Parts: sequence; C-alpha cells; structure tokens
Amino acid sequence: MSRWGMVIDLNRCTACQGCVSACHEENNVPPSTPDLSAMGRSIRWIDMMPVQEGEYPHATMSVLPMMCQHCEHPPCIKVCPVGATFFSEEEGIVGQIYPRCIGCRYCTTACPYTVRQFNWFEPAVPETYLEGTNPDVSRRYKGVVEKCTLCHHRLQKARDQARAEGRDLLPGEYTPACVEVCPTDAMVFGDLEDRESEVSKKSRSKRAYRLLEDLGTEPKVFYLREGNRQ
Ligand code: SF4
Ligand code: SF4
Repeated sequence: MSRWGMVIDLNRCTACQGCVSACHEENNVPPSTPDLSAMGRSIRWIDMMPVQEGEYPHATMSVLPMMCQHCEHPPCIKVCPVGATFFSEEEGIVGQIYPRCIGCRYCTTACPYTVRQFNWFEPAVPETYLEGTNPDVSRRYKGVVEKCTLCHHRLQKARDQARAEGRDLLPGEYTPACVEVCPTDAMVFGDLEDRESEVSKKSRSKRAYRLLEDLGTEPKVFYLREGNRQ
C-alpha cells in the first residue's frame, strides 16, 4: 500500500507558475479566455493562492501552489450521489470518473480547499492545442467536475513498465508533471508511507504544515513554512 504525496517548500517556490503550465499541457486542461477569466470560470488543476499572515502593517504575503490535497478523509467523496469521485485505498489518490458525473457540484461545495473545477461550457480548444493533446489523459466536457489526479496516468505507465521488466516500481519512477518541471526543486513527491523517502522525511520537518488541518481531512500535500527553521 502506498500513500502518494507531496511537500512544497515555500522557501524555494518563486511562484514562477511553471507547475501551472506543465499541468495544463500534461492533463489537457484547455487554455482560458479573457471572458472566462472575467467570470471566474477558468479551469486550473493547480493555481497560485495568495495568503496573508498577520494584520496590516505587519502582514506578510506568500503564494501557495494549490491543487487537490488528496485528503485521506475526503469530504468531496461523501457527498457525491453517483460515486463519480472515489478514493483509492491502495494509493491514497482521490480520482474522478467523468462519465458518471451528473454535474450536481455537491463536491465543489464540500471541498474545503475549493480546488474542484466545473466545466460550465464546452471547452474551447484551438486547433494548434489539439495537436499537442496528451493521449494518456481523457478530455472533459461541459457539465462535469474535474481536478488534479496527481497525474495518475503516469503512475499507471510507470507500473506497466516495471511489470514488463518483471520488477517492482522504483522510487522516482512516478513523478507528476508539476514536480518534474519545478526549476527550484520546491516540490518533492513520493510515497509518504516509506519513512526513508525524501518526501516522508520532509513531511516530518518542523516547518511542515497542512492546510485546514483541524478539519481532519488529512491532506497528503504538505507545505514547508518560509523561514530558517528546519
Ligand atoms: Fe476532495 Fe477537495 Fe480533499 Fe481534493 S482537496 S480530496 S477535492 S476534499
Ligand atoms: Fe459527484 Fe459530479 Fe456531483 Fe461532484 S458534480 S458530487 S462528482 S456527480
């Protein structure tokens, strides 16, 4: 059993948004338009969330890369009336079955991290974009909810490769696109169950925290506070 998760070091993150671009390209998330943005209906599986700590004039601002937190106890799953969203007991990943989704959006309301995205319109996909579509990821359509999958298709590919070679999956063979492109190595990914893995060690750092921890959702995305503490 694995618990795939991520640690994001805010000392290293420069908010360059390379992760955002990589996620769009990898997961066939269509580019937004000014009209959609103005209505707040752009689709993004990972985004930069500004956070203020303290009060003016002593407040500090930071920016958190924010995606589905792949909660161990996900509120979004409890409310889905058709089982379109599910929890993988083997991997700890929260997934979405698009053909089952009836678009009621209960899950978007239940998610305390507001990371679920609803397709209000049929995605407008330019011809040039279609040429670069990733065949490993299904495209979504008007009326369904979507969100970060931790690039689950990459796990399936890495597993298939390992199986074909008659061996187990090795650490580092499964890496989501956002983590792969991060130019400052601010994002570390791996199996939190493996206590010797880098991600597991960092998740136990004194700087580590999770968002809205008191809700009991137990996110598998950890952040490392800015500052000198280890
Ligand atoms: Fe569900 Fe939101 Fe948790 Fe992701 S962050 S598992 S969408 S409740
Ligand atoms: Fe389930 Fe789709 Fe409704 Fe969300 S919008 S609760 S995934 S049916």
